[in-house]
Amino acid sequence: MPDFAPGGKIICIGRNYAEHAAEMGHDPERSQPFFFFKPASALLLPGEDFIYPDFSREVHHELELVVRVAVGGRHLKTEQTEINGFAIGLDMTCRDLQRVAKQQGRPWELAKGFDGSAPCSEFIAGNLQDLEKTSAITLERNGVIVQSGLWRDMIWSIPELMAEVSRYIALTPGDLIFTGTPAGVGEVARGDRLIARLDDVCKLTLSVI
Ligand code: ZN
Repeated sequence: MPDFAPGGKIICIGRNYAEHAAEMGHDPERSQPFFFFKPASALLLPGEDFIYPDFSREVHHELELVVRVAVGGRHLKTEQTEINGFAIGLDMTCRDLQRVAKQQGRPWELAKGFDGSAPCSEFIAGNLQDLEKTSAITLERNGVIVQSGLWRDMIWSIPELMAEVSRYIALTPGDLIFTGTPAGVGEVARGDRLIARLDDVCKLTLSVI
């Protein structure tokens, strides 16, 4: 169970890998990463099934490294930031609802913040130095690798993204950050079995029902 602080936030980073920005039709040279939130009820704990939402017909997986904030505060400098744990997670996205929201200039919450939209593995206790010993994130869908990347390819590093968020919103110890997805996002279907990994360190097994 993630050690999620009461009142904690789930912060998600968008377009933090150049190849994913490109696959979504954005010029990575010109579009900066940005962030948005999911409510606490989005968190899906290890062992829970992902219930395919009845309001969508196009749910995508976004494979993401998840970190847990250790140092809270506002206007943090990158060297002041720290984590106390990391995990592998999925930013489940109703791409059809997101497309409509984008067209209408509305927020994304329904597409990305619905209950159960943030499946997450058990957390490994560790700081940024410990995380540095890991490298690859991968997602298997029904035995086939569908997404993989190196988290070091992020546009905003983890200290940079924590510093950036804290310019606007105070960080609190225990906040979770979904750090963005590499290329290869795609659809899931009922009956799928998903296995997400950070090297051999973190593993999340998820059934879509
Ligand atoms: Zn995402």
